[in-house]
Formats: sequence, C-alpha cells, structure tokens
Amino acid sequence: MINRDEQSYRMESQLAQIGSIQEPITGAVTFPIYQATAYRHPRLGQSTGFDYIRTKNPTRAVLEDAAALLERGDAGFACSSGMAALQTVFALFGQGDHLIVSLDLYGGTYRMLERLLSRFGVTASYVDTNDLEAIESVRQPSTKAIFIETPTNPLMMITDIEAVAKWARSHNMLTIVDNTLLTPFFQRPIELGADIIVHSATKYLGGHNDVLAGLIVTKGKELSEEMAFLHNSIGAVLSPSDSYQLMRGMKTLALRMERHEYNATRVAEWLNTHESIDTVYYPALENHPGFAIQRKQSSGNTGILSFRLHDARYVEPILRHIKLIAFAESLGGVESLMTYPAVQTHADIPQEIREAVGVDDRLLRFSVGIEHVDDIIADLEQALAAAKEELASATVLEAEGV
Ligand SMILES: *Cc1c(COP(=O)(O)O)cnc(C)c1O
Repeated sequence: MINRDEQSYRMESQLAQIGSIQEPITGAVTFPIYQATAYRHPRLGQSTGFDYIRTKNPTRAVLEDAAALLERGDAGFACSSGMAALQTVFALFGQGDHLIVSLDLYGGTYRMLERLLSRFGVTASYVDTNDLEAIESVRQPSTKAIFIETPTNPLMMITDIEAVAKWARSHNMLTIVDNTLLTPFFQRPIELGADIIVHSATKYLGGHNDVLAGLIVTKGKELSEEMAFLHNSIGAVLSPSDSYQLMRGMKTLALRMERHEYNATRVAEWLNTHESIDTVYYPALENHPGFAIQRKQSSGNTGILSFRLHDARYVEPILRHIKLIAFAESLGGVESLMTYPAVQTHADIPQEIREAVGVDDRLLRFSVGIEHVDDIIADLEQALAAAKEELASATVLEAEGV
C-alpha cells in the first residue's frame, strides 16, 4: 500500500505524511497501533507478510519504511533504544575484527565497544575521523568499518563523510554514521557514500523527551538482509505503541529542526560575546574548525552546542539557577536541557581520554529547545549573573577570613 508518489515529495511532505496513506481498511489518516503478536496463516505455506511480532509488525513496518525513505536507504529497522540499534549493528562484527571510531564518542557507545564488544574479540581505535592520515595510521588488515559521529558531542567535531566513505570503500570497509544530532532533515550520509545509519530516535526524531527508540537504515541488498537477520535474531525491536509515538514525533521534525537551529545559532552568538565564557562550540559559527565541511555536507545545524567557562566554579551555581532550562541528561527534545558532560554523559570515558579531547570540568552542553529564544537567553543571563554574584561574595568572605 506504499504510495509511489512519496519518493518524489520533499522531505517536509514525507515527514508530515508518515503512515497517513497506508491504512487500507478504514482510510484512517494516522496508522493504527497493531498490538497482535501473532497472525493467522491463510493456508499452509502462506503468509500475509506478518507472522510474529518480533520479525515484522505492521505499525513498526510503517516507521521502518519511513526511516529508509528519509535516509535514502533500502531498509529500515526500529529498535528498542539507540543502544539496541548500535548493538544490532555491531553484531555484524566478531572475533578479531577491528573498527575505527570517532574520538569524542557518545559515552554509551564507547562503553559498549570497550566493555561489551571487547568480550567478543572486537577492538576499536579512537581517532579524529576527519584526519585521513590519522585514520590511515590506525588501519589494520582486520579493520572492517569506520564509525562516525558528525557532529560529535559535546565538542561538535565535524567529519567529512564523503571523503571518509570514499577512503573506506577503497579499503573494502563499511562506513557507519550515527546521524542522531542532525537527522535526515539536515544531513543524509547515505547520499554521501555511507552504508549504515544509526539513530538514537529518543532525541530529535522523537523530539518530545517521551519515547525511547533507535533506528537503523542500510544501503544495499546484502547488508539489508543481514541486518534483518540480526534485528530478528537479537530481538531488541521497538514496540507497536512506541513505534506510533515515534512516528507522531517525526511528523513535525522539519518545523522543530528549523527552530532548534535558529534558537541555537542565536544562543551561540550571544554566549560567544559573554565575558564569563571562554569558548563556544557550535558548527554554525564561522570560527568553528568544521564550519566549511558542515556547510558543504548538511543543509542546517543541530540544536546542540557546548561552552567552556573561564572558571569551573561557575558550573554548580549556573546549574542551580537555570529555571526555564532544565538540568537534565538528554538532548534533542522541544524542552531546553543543560548537561554537565564530565560527570554525566561522559562519566564512563576515562578522565585522561576525556580531558585529552577537551571534555573537562569547565564544559557545559546545551540542547537548545524550541521555546522563545529571548526567554532562553534571559534565563542564561540571569543564571550567569547569579553565579558571578555568588562567587564575588564568596571571595569577599574568604578575604575577610569568614
Ligand atoms: C543518546 C544517544 C545514543 C544512545 O541512544 P539511546 O536511545 O539513549 O539508547 C547514541 N548515540 C548518540 C549520539 C546519542 O545521543
């Protein structure tokens, strides 16, 4: 029942129409939630296409087709979380295989590689994946894939996907991209040569801080068949109701991403001139080292930025004084959230590695929401001012020996 026209629609239309043209029985404009775990076989040896929920579910299938369409791949797979999607993808590899992986990696992915995949004999080298000499220097005969996050977070490092995918292909390696921060609305790595896309759909795709989900999109028949096998064998699939919830979020992705980008750009520019801030990391700023590549390969910018304070003592009072912005550990939702990576998202990465990359105790990550940007900036301004005042009076008390 797939509408053939949808291939030719622009992405805003594809997003808004997810599932609305595919319900054949009633014509319902949103696709129903099929809870059934089992499906009657018409005859021996026949199937409606659905047999058992883990293998294929009608609601989840609509989401999976949408994911493949949006990411310009051949097949989509919905998983119970971003980590479940990553585990399913990493199950492509086994004993003796080696991976090249972006530095400043998502903490959970690092933990999975170092503490779980290592048990199955898979090893990884972490390098700045935008540095072709660096990736060449860690390549081994057993290297099977390069895994990229671009932008990374919190440091917003950018990798040239096309250059890396071309290099990987010349060595018979797969290119895997975690596209969580930009989403297919702003960046489509398969069009640039990548083979596999992974998402924590918990973030921008869901967009409302209320659903845990992961997505995989593959390019090519063989890889798609292998991924279908792993998805069904591992079984970390997304439930029908969460599939529905995720599609509901995705319908407004275009509107939300445009606003996230607008707000984050304004906030980054404001922070960039603030006296208490040392560095702002945001790829839309012209002084960002990845600015040109980001502009070449993406049509917009994420709503995530990070900033380093001059003084680590500002961190605690800022997190205590923000009111509109919540001190919480996620990203990509409509609500603004601020995170302290050194103690939260990146706590599982050893301190030496973390600090060598630049995730130190003066760095805050900000997932800029879709609230009015003036309210967001006013909240930051009052929190920074309150922190400054507290530290000034603490310094006076210290000087007076109190
Ligand atoms: C959150 C996140 C993950 C993990 O996804 P979950 O949905 O939390 O399991 C993976 N990669 C990135 C970039 C993330 O931000």
